[in-house]
Order: sequence, then C-alpha cells, then structure tokens
Amino acid sequence: MRTLAAETVDKIGQEVTLQGWVNTRRDHGNIVFLDLRDRSGIVQMVSTKTADAGSEDVIEVVGLVKKRPENMTNPKIPTGTVEVEITSIKIISEAKELPFPIDTDGYDIEEEIRSKYRYLDIRRSRMNKNLRLRSKVVAFIRNFLLEREFVEVETPILTKTTPEGARDFIVPSRLQKGKFYALPQSPQQYKQLLMVAGLERYFQIARCFRDEDPRKDRAYGEFTQLDLEMSFITQNDILELTEKLFSSLVAELMPEKHITQTPWPRLSHKKVMEKYGTDKPDLRKDKNDKNELAFSWTIDFPLFNKQSKEDFYYGSGAKVAPSHHMFTAPHPDDISLLDKNPLKVRGLQHDLVLNGFEVGGGSIRIHQREVQDKVFDLIGFTPMQKKQFEHMLTAFTYGVPPHGGIAPGIDRFLMAALGEPSVREVMAFPTSSSGQTSVMDAPSEAGKTQLVELGITVKSQKK
Ligand code: ASP
Repeated sequence: MRTLAAETVDKIGQEVTLQGWVNTRRDHGNIVFLDLRDRSGIVQMVSTKTADAGSEDVIEVVGLVKKRPENMTNPKIPTGTVEVEITSIKIISEAKELPFPIDTDGYDIEEEIRSKYRYLDIRRSRMNKNLRLRSKVVAFIRNFLLEREFVEVETPILTKTTPEGARDFIVPSRLQKGKFYALPQSPQQYKQLLMVAGLERYFQIARCFRDEDPRKDRAYGEFTQLDLEMSFITQNDILELTEKLFSSLVAELMPEKHITQTPWPRLSHKKVMEKYGTDKPDLRKDKNDKNELAFSWTIDFPLFNKQSKEDFYYGSGAKVAPSHHMFTAPHPDDISLLDKNPLKVRGLQHDLVLNGFEVGGGSIRIHQREVQDKVFDLIGFTPMQKKQFEHMLTAFTYGVPPHGGIAPGIDRFLMAALGEPSVREVMAFPTSSSGQTSVMDAPSEAGKTQLVELGITVKSQKK
C-alpha cells in the first residue's frame, strides 16, 4: 500500500512504499540523499548503495522510516524529524532535464516558456499552493451559498451576445451556415431570466469570455467569476451577503490575512474620485504588508458615461454609454432625469474593491420593460440591435421580480488577496498576453474539411 510523504512521521520503524518525484538529489560520496515529492509534501530518503534516480524522475521506493538524530532534523519541512532508508528503488518514468528550475518562485522566468511547459511550472510549490487554495475557495463559496438556499445553475456557453462592454468571441454554426454563436461575456441575461423563472437565489462559478486586450488584472480571453443574483432584495442585501461571504472565507482559508476595516467602507463614486482620483482606491494602511486586505465598496456611480471610442458596441449616434452595463437600474429618484439629463442619473451599481483592484461589480437591475426600452434608446440601439434583446423585454411582460446581483472575479480576488502580480499566477492554463493558450498553442488553423462544413472561406492567412 502507498504511504504519502507526510504520513511517514507517524510510521517510525515501519517499512513503507512511497511513490512520487525526485525533488532533489544530493550525492555525498558513498551516501545519496533523495527528496521524494508527492501531493502531500516532501520526505528525505537516504541510500548507501547506488540509487540511479535523477531529479524529477518518477520513482517507487520501499524503505524503512527512521527517526533522525536530534542534530540532523530539518525544521523547515513537516517531515524533518524522519528520513526513509531506501531498501529498494524502482524508476517508473525517467525525466529529461527540465527547461527551467522549479524550486524557485518562478517570477523571473519568461512567461512564454512557463506557459509552454505549464504542467512543469505547476510543479513549483507556489503554483501548486495557489491552485489548491483556489479549489478550497471555490468549495467554500459553494457551501456558503448552498447553505443559504442558493441554487447552482449552469448556463449555456454557446449562446448569443451578452454585452459587458467587450468584443465577443464568435463560433460558427455548422447546422445553420453563415450564423454564429457568441461565447458569453457573462451569464448576465440568463441569470436575470432565472429570476423571472422564480429561482430567487442563483449562483454559478461561471466562465466568461471577452475578446479584449489583456491587462494584469484580466487574462486574455476567459476568466472565472462567482456569478450571483437574488430577487426581492435591496442593494444593501447584496453588499452584506458579499461582505459576509468574503470575510468568513478569508478567516477560514487565509488566517494569516487581516482585513483593514469592517464593516467595509462604502464610498460614493463622486467622493472617491475627488479624494483618490480613481474608483478603485487602495485603502490599505500599510501597502508593504502583504497580509493586509482592504475591501471597500464604490457605489452611486453615474448610470451613463459619455460615449467614447471604446463603446463600439452601442449605437454610434448616441451621446451616452452604460457605465456598468445596460441592465443596471437607474436610481428611482433620478428616473425623471433620464430624458432631460441622462448623464446626471445615478445607477444602482456597486463595485467591490480590494487593495486597489476592482474585484467585482454588480447592480440592482431594471425590471420594467419601459425603462429597459428607454435605456436601449438612450445608448443608441438601432431597431436591429434592440431586436437582439427582445427576449428580455418579452420575459419582462410575464411577471418579473425586482432583482439584482454581483459577480466577484475568482481569479482577480485570488490575485489581489495573494498579492500575485497577475491573474495568470492563479490560473492553471492561462492564455498568454499575446493570446496564445498554454501548452496547446491555440489559436491554430482549421482543417479544410472543417471550413467547408462551416461554409467558411478564409481570405488571408498569415504564414
Ligand atoms: N454581469 C456583470 C459582470 O460580469 C456582473 C453583474 O452585473 O452581476 O461584470
């Protein structure tokens, strides 16, 4: 039976079988030290005979667990009080020399090469820890919400455009040549439809796709967010739930971190811009303290911004574009300003800020057909564009509860909380900043038959 490295401390005097990788090999003349690494950690093994295994080989070892003499213990590793005297060693699979070291934090290694050999990069302990923590974070979120009567629902990936202000990825349809699906920029419309459907409390660990230029807090192409939506609630309910969720998550999974201020400060967009010149202020007291987490809310955003070149998606003749997205509700006191002075209308948007990063955003939504229609007009939608959202307006004629939600980014939260320099450090197989996928090297050309089946002719291909 296999024993894990971490279990050896409880097996002094016993013969064990270990399986894993050779983490390091140290030759001291007639004695060889091998550190074996498995998912539980590392244990030192020692042999006085020849042991041919080299770094990163996968091995199986039978050996005797021995207590190390007092002066030979290694307090740096949990198994530092024992070592395994090798009886027999079998090389299961040999490893070539790795393209880069994995016993460092890896920040100084070129991204392209880390990405090409991501499966090796993940062997480094920092990456390994990040992915394990990420898994725990997702499990914590899931349990927290399920305990509070939320329903987890998967929404389609092959869908129609869901504008969040970025460019869509489109997927050609084989069955209806000349037509395309869009990958969702978020499940925004589906989650609102699920409120019409009466679920009242929805969440999803949702993959979102946006064809926008990469930034350090956003990987190119895709990212994951906790998407949630609730009915019959106020904005305050959303803020309180989110605060409780993340505060208890930090307390349980990141006990070394402390939160600067609770309850989290809620700052109006106007004040925050005046005081900090940004809507995502870094409110840490000590910016050198890597264990400080300064959460805050930015609220009372204007519903619209002046339209800029980046708002290519909306009607080109319009003066305004949504500052969050087109489903955000105007402040009820400002509805009369929609016609007169739309730029003065406040929106019921809330942004979640952590250490200077926007890690989530959401809003109370429009649930009246007329108001939604008016917003479509104000952002300059043509009748054709409006038609693309007809299903929302139709749904709103069948009894729609007031609703709202939020979508904290999982990658972004982890990046900000761990102080990692990029979201890619908390993703298993991120796309590089030039849009190349890890290891598999997509995008790549499609085969001739595939293109024929799709009815697509590619005009020019860079060679
Ligand atoms: N759909 C929004 C986003 O992805 C979040 C929300 O409004 O709930 O940013």
